[in-house]
Order: sequence, then C-alpha cells, then structure tokens
Amino acid sequence: MASSDASNDQAGEQPMGRETGMVVVGQRERRAERRSREHIARASTDTHRRRRKREVTTGRRFDGAPRRPARNAAARTHRARSSHQHITSARAPWHIERAHSVSVSSRSVLSVLALLTTSFASCAAGPPAQERVEATPSARALASPPRPVLTTVVLVALDGVRWQEVFRGIDPVLAEKSHMAQDDRDADLAPNIHRLIATRGAALGADGAEIRASGPNFVSLPGYTEMLTGRRSACRDNDCAPIDRPTLLDELAASSPSPLAVISSWERIERVVAREPGRVVVSAGRTHGATRDALRYDGEAARLLDDAANASSWPGGDDFRRDAATGAIALRYLREKRPRFLFLGLGEPDEFAHQGDYPGYVGAIRAADRIVGELVRALDDMADRSPAALFVTTDHGRAASFRDHGGDWPESSRVWLVGAGAGISARGVVPMSLPHHLADIGPTIRALFGLARDESRSAGSVIDELVTTGAP
Ligand SMILES: [Zn+2]
Repeated sequence: MASSDASNDQAGEQPMGRETGMVVVGQRERRAERRSREHIARASTDTHRRRRKREVTTGRRFDGAPRRPARNAAARTHRARSSHQHITSARAPWHIERAHSVSVSSRSVLSVLALLTTSFASCAAGPPAQERVEATPSARALASPPRPVLTTVVLVALDGVRWQEVFRGIDPVLAEKSHMAQDDRDADLAPNIHRLIATRGAALGADGAEIRASGPNFVSLPGYTEMLTGRRSACRDNDCAPIDRPTLLDELAASSPSPLAVISSWERIERVVAREPGRVVVSAGRTHGATRDALRYDGEAARLLDDAANASSWPGGDDFRRDAATGAIALRYLREKRPRFLFLGLGEPDEFAHQGDYPGYVGAIRAADRIVGELVRALDDMADRSPAALFVTTDHGRAASFRDHGGDWPESSRVWLVGAGAGISARGVVPMSLPHHLADIGPTIRALFGLARDESRSAGSVIDELVTTGAP
C-alpha cells in the first residue's frame, strides 16, 4: 500500500475513456496467452487430481456433498450424453444450483441450464472426462438466457498481487534469489483461483487480455476507489479525503435493505466505501469502521473481532489487521448474514512485497487463495437460496523489480480480474481486443444486480467479455 509516488494532485474528475485503437493480438501474444492457459490448466488438473484423491479418503466432495458412488464405464458414457441427467443427479455449484429449487420459474431454470452447459462446455481442462457434458440442441437454443437476479456478490481484492504470479506462477528468478525451497517452487500458487478460472469462471489480465488501474498513480486508495465507485477517480494517493460522491455501496443501500459489508485488513479502505458509510457494515483494520460493532452479532463473531484487535499489525503497520483474521470475520459474516454485497480486502501480499520478501509474498498469496477456496465453499453451501457471483482482483500491479509500485513504474498499472458464478461466462482466460480498467468492475456488478447504468463521464463500462447477459 505504501506509495513511492505521493503526488497530492487532486485534479478534477477525468473522463473514463478506453485507450484508443485496437490492440492487435499478434503471434507473440497468442503464444503467451496459450502459455497462461496451459499453466492454469496444468495447475487446475493437478489440484483436481489431488482433490479427487482426498475425496476417495473422505468420501466427501470439495463442497461438502457426498461423493457419488462409482459407476461403470457404460453408465459414465450414458451420463455424459445426458446433460439433464447430469444436472439432476449431481450437486451443482452455487451458480447453477437454483435448478433444484421448485420455486424458480421455468424461464429461470432454462437460463440456469444454459449457464451450466456454457460452464462445462468451455471447461477445456478442468473437470475429468466423466464430468463433461455435451451441449444438447435444446440447451444450445438457450444461448441467450435472461439476466439472472443475483442475491449475493462477493468482491475480493488481494492487495498488490501481480498478474505474473496469478497466470504464470512463481517467478523462477525471484525464487532463486530468495533461496526458496524446491517444494515451494513446485506447488501451485493459487489452486482455488486456477480452478475457478478453469472450471466455472473467466479471467482477464493474462497476456493479450489486459486490465489496468487507471492511475496515474498506481497505489492502493485510488485503486480501491475505482473498484468501489465504478469510476475513474481523482484520488491520487493513499491520503485522499473520505469520498464525497455516491459509491456502488451507496446505490446498493438505496435499492434494498439487505446487508452490505466491507471487511478489510487495511484501515484506509474505510474512506472510500460509501458517501454514507452508516448504511454499510465496515470493519477496516483492527479497530477502524464506524459500524464495526454490527459484526458482534454473536459471541463467536465478537471474539473474532476482539482477538484481531488485540493482535499485532505485522506484517503491516498502523492499524493493519492480519489477513487470516480478516478472512475469518468475513467468511463467518457471509455464512451467517448472507449479505447482498461483501467486499473482502486482503493486504499481506503487498506488505511482504514492500519488504522485498518474495517467499512472504508467495505465502500470503497462498493464504489468500485458501480464503478464496473457503468463500467458494460458503457460496456453494448457500446456493439453494442465493444465486451468487464472486470476483477476485487486485488494486494495482507491481514494478518489474517486484518490490515497488506507483506512477514511477507504469508496468504496475497491470492488474487482473477473475469472475465466476451467476451471470458470468465460464470462458477461462478471456482474450480481449481492448484493455479494461478497474473502473469497469463496478458497472459489471451493477449490471448483474440490474441497477441502472451510471451515466457520469468518469464511469467505466460493463465488461461484456465476462457477463453472459450484457448491460441493462
Ligand atoms: Zn503497496
């Protein structure tokens, strides 16, 4: 989060234009993109294999559902030919499980069937062969489903995690320099995120599919402002005053009484949550957040909050809260209160990176990925009543040297975005002709919730490559 470029230029609102000109994806980019896909496919397959091995031992699937009894080859073949049978016989992930609900309209069920078909048909490398399904003619005819009505969106930000680690894995040069153990280098860095990309989601930010912070100073508070407002921001550093324009959370609060929450390790995110933060449950850092006492909804929740408040801020400073504590508080709140929107901000990767500690940075990414896995499980468990979407992103990238970021290092504008769930195309790594920006995440979430488009000049655009249904 620390900035080496502390420009305090509070310039006025800037129009949010896409960079002009088509980006021609050449041979080099296509090769690089293929490498990213291969890395994710390999990582996901390895993870899946390990998970299936564990399932044999435990008799449970990763989402807690009982493992299905083994079937012979003929039965598997028959099942693969019948997508309908697959849907009704397997426990579906959270973005399709409404197919089981008797209360949903037939139109919704059809859209869910189409989502399922799209999800598995585009899964080039994720699930094992016996879980793949072919798109039936009737399912293909449903290729334009109506916009789903989401009840939950979770947005996770991993502070200062580079696209290189997400799509290519551990940097061999930095690993060598820091004497990382071989086992550490070999293990998949983000198995849960990779599995999301490979089996039920889509990713932007690999080579040939750029998404950037708008800058011009690529530090945390401007990045989070972009994310939570859906607009390019005038905030230029980490000392910006509290936001005075409505954010995505203000608009969500105005549209529904359902709970909204922002739970973050870094305290300053509090400044950009909402113009009227009293309507949002905010716990930022160990003790910040005027509404943090709303998280004392029972004894266990209060204990989580207090234990974290009394702990050290290391590896951060000031009021920083450890990611493990932030993640535990957010996960429990998600399960117990089912908020309409949950923002989870994890900050340790950036803290370790500023210390030049590559193994620490890698370890923090691994820990954050485990929290993402827990979120997926929580959303799976809530699937019967809460069609949901999950996004994972970062506020800024890093310099080529890894340690720094900011306006002095233009390459640190490169970020990434992973989305999965209801209304999200399961396309894997998405090629794009034009770069997107962090300011496009808010409009995409607005579209998924069915909110009206933000007409301000600085507003971003819906990321059409991610959503299945387009803007309202
Ligand atoms: Zn930083």
